[in-house]
Amino acid sequence: MAKNHERIHHDEKNLCNLCVTELEGIYEELELTDAELDILSVPRRVFTVHFPVTLTNGTTRMFIGHRVQFNDSRGPSKGGIRFHPELKLDHVSDLAFLMALKCAVVNIPFGGAKGGVVVNPKELTRDELELVTRAYIRAIADFIGPFKDIPAPDVYTDEKVMVWILDEYEHLKREHAPAMVTGKPVELGGIKARQYSTSLGGIYVLEEAVKEKNIDKSHVRVAIQGFGNVGENAARILYERGYIVVAVSDSKGGVINQEGLDIREVIVHKRKEGTLQGFMGGQSISNKDLLTCDCDVLIPAALSDQIDRNNAKLIKAKIVLELANAPTTSEANILLFERSIMLIPDVLANAGGVVGSYFEWIQSLSNDYWDEEQVLVRLKKVMIDAFNDIYTVCREESCTMKKAAYKIAIKRILTAEKLRGNL
Ligand code: NAD
Repeated sequence: MAKNHERIHHDEKNLCNLCVTELEGIYEELELTDAELDILSVPRRVFTVHFPVTLTNGTTRMFIGHRVQFNDSRGPSKGGIRFHPELKLDHVSDLAFLMALKCAVVNIPFGGAKGGVVVNPKELTRDELELVTRAYIRAIADFIGPFKDIPAPDVYTDEKVMVWILDEYEHLKREHAPAMVTGKPVELGGIKARQYSTSLGGIYVLEEAVKEKNIDKSHVRVAIQGFGNVGENAARILYERGYIVVAVSDSKGGVINQEGLDIREVIVHKRKEGTLQGFMGGQSISNKDLLTCDCDVLIPAALSDQIDRNNAKLIKAKIVLELANAPTTSEANILLFERSIMLIPDVLANAGGVVGSYFEWIQSLSNDYWDEEQVLVRLKKVMIDAFNDIYTVCREESCTMKKAAYKIAIKRILTAEKLRGNL
């Protein structure tokens, strides 16, 4: 173990801290060679670009942008672009690693990437943001493209930003290339159902888990932390499917009603008031208490590190569906496993978003338009297949779903590397 441990830490230029910690628990069991470990722990390509943009007040400011392509053995790199003042290259690298794993977990032919610009978008005008986006794309244009690396929305970037990316890239290449970016508006080749594909993908998996746990579907009580894109859509879809959503929360706190919340009314209230507070159909509950409330399914859909060693012992849910990225610490993951609580890890639970992106990519490559039904049928199959693959390993090896998912992803990436002759 010591040898491999040293190996994985061997290079100060190794930019991926997360892959070091995540792989540590797994490499022994998979008996990875030094070369395999190197391939999995170092990003393939790392770009940092500096570019000037003249702002509307006439001053010129230098901006920094990053892009990390972690692994592209299974297909073009794929991952979001975020605008954030605190964006750091090592974190971008961690996120690119997770994208590589996520794409391999759901078995879609993409590698993993992530990127972004160090900027606070709230300090710029819309026109300035467009100039920054276009300048960033000019700086990395040679390294992205429909068969190289395909960006998507992430923190503080949306479909408007994706259109600027597409337009700038097409101007540079002097041809149409709609498959070079996903998260586009439907009118420019975006996929129907993208707004809720992350939540619905997670719910498809949850329905399989509910069957496995022998919970009566008509009595499943769900608590959801976070009421943004992912949390709100999850609450709405679950409510429409007859689940009893007992609690929801946003950054200011939550509401609970053990008889079930009327989610249509909750959404109307949130739209009108901008907060869940003051909703009359339930009692208020803190974010902290929501996590340990009486329910069958807990869905963290907000921030990372919400379930830790302190509250893992108090969780009452039988299933935890990680729609947020990394909401459960590694320690808590083990504690939940010991208590026979099924934790469906983020790399599977929230992969519906990137699966939707994959469909958008196919649609754009083939100049086609899929109808919503087509998207949903294929999304369901991809998510359920992935759940079954992982659950089979879990049962055979009596391990956490996270470990099973990582093992499957790692094996798939290494198989591609071997077939290419890289190992
Ligand atoms: P969002 O910004 O739309 O919503 C975040 C929500 O979390 C908001 O309702 C906010 O009020 C709430 N929140 C913030 N702090 C909170 C706290 N302490 N307690 C409870 N709620 C709190 O973001 P989103 O797109 O819904 O993403 C949510 C999570 O899902 C993130 O971890 C994101 O990385 C992950 N994710 C999102 C997608 C996607 O398609 N949007 C895909 C994969 C993963």
